[in-house]
Amino acid sequence: MKKALIVGGGIGGLSAGVALRKAQFEVHLAELSQAYDVYGVGIIQPSNALRALDSLGLADACIERGSPYGKVKMCSAGGFPFTEVGTPPMGRLPVHNGISRRILHDVLHEGAQAAGVIFRMGLSVSAIDNSDEGVSVTFTDGSTDHYDLLVGADGVNSHVRKLIFGDHKPRYTGQSVWRYAFERLKELETGYMFMGKQTKAGLIPMTASSMYMFVVSAEGADNPFIPETELVPRLRALLAEYSAPMVTSVVDQITDPKGVIYRPLETLLMPAPWYKGRVVMMGDAVHATIPQLGQGAGLAIEDAVVLGEELTVGDAVSAALDRYMARRYERCKMVVDVSAQVGEWEQLDWQGKLPEEANIGALMGRTLGALGAPI
Ligand SMILES: Cc1cc2nc3c(=O)[nH]c(=O)nc-3n(C[C@H](O)[C@H](O)[C@H](O)COP(=O)(O)OP(=O)(O)OC[C@H]3O[C@@H](n4cnc5c(N)ncnc54)[C@H](O)[C@@H]3O)c2cc1C
Repeated sequence: MKKALIVGGGIGGLSAGVALRKAQFEVHLAELSQAYDVYGVGIIQPSNALRALDSLGLADACIERGSPYGKVKMCSAGGFPFTEVGTPPMGRLPVHNGISRRILHDVLHEGAQAAGVIFRMGLSVSAIDNSDEGVSVTFTDGSTDHYDLLVGADGVNSHVRKLIFGDHKPRYTGQSVWRYAFERLKELETGYMFMGKQTKAGLIPMTASSMYMFVVSAEGADNPFIPETELVPRLRALLAEYSAPMVTSVVDQITDPKGVIYRPLETLLMPAPWYKGRVVMMGDAVHATIPQLGQGAGLAIEDAVVLGEELTVGDAVSAALDRYMARRYERCKMVVDVSAQVGEWEQLDWQGKLPEEANIGALMGRTLGALGAPI
């Protein structure tokens, strides 16, 4: 049996654990955190992410423990709906599923444990001796081991990427996202997006009784640090431009600074190939996209599925990694590039400088449609 090490136990790494077990690898997973501390807002799972989870046997658990919904209703700041967006329907799967990040993590972790992944928590790699035959790894606790394959799934600031491919830094895009969880509004029958003049805001179901809000804002090129004491007043101030009843009815509930999850948006696309010798990269470590298309985690899960499928075919790992690259690069590049373009246009729009030819809705619609293609 071949042996693989996955570095990073986030959405991508856990999915890869399941996929590589399916491909008959012995799988070890090294995760830096001693215990997982996943923040308590939600994540959008479009149909292509659910399709990938389905092939790992995990879509039903996500749907049962999350909240399936249809296309997202796009509305004015006042709440007037003008169109709907979403990835194409795929078989029996819903167009979207909203799910708490903590619950998604539990589903993936339970799936990886049931598949027989061996977890090594509170650990990373300090050195990798990489060749075309295998990798010898020294861990941060001084222990060593040898693997047929190492999968770098350690996120946007990847340590594995730095060790093997050198310096590739993510770029701050000028936008940030603010999120907050609420009790679900009865009238929230699907996902909603409200287009303001300075920001955009969304409401996404997470379970039958919970939902979360996101607000995308422009914070300037210098990526300011926002002290905790300012999180609540600033989020409330950003929402002042919305008169949609669904938004105004929850603003007063934003009171807990620890509940405001603020994240500057960064983007990164590492040039191909995403492998060298027996080290292969996946997820945000090589294609961190801003969430304008709600695709980052979905792409990481797709990476895991494709990697597992290709490693199942035949015996030559390097040929499998070539095929993995061929199936992943253009699709991930499309999402990273289009999401960054949408983010740029949004910022121009909010400054009243959007060029006439820039049609955000059409670009998003075309790209989401293209994601229906088989992976
Ligand atoms: C504001 C925001 C909203 C988003 N919304 C969506 C959405 O609605 N839908 C969607 O599909 N995507 C969304 N995304 C993107 C999504 O969260 C990411 O694409 C996804 O989490 C990437 O998964 P990953 O496993 O590659 O990386 P991560 O989730 O970052 O996981 C990396 C893991 O590696 C571990 N690690 C880090 N360094 C080391 C190390 N040196 N050694 C060992 N372990 C290490 C970390 O602790 C972590 O567990 C959003 C992103 C942002 C910023």
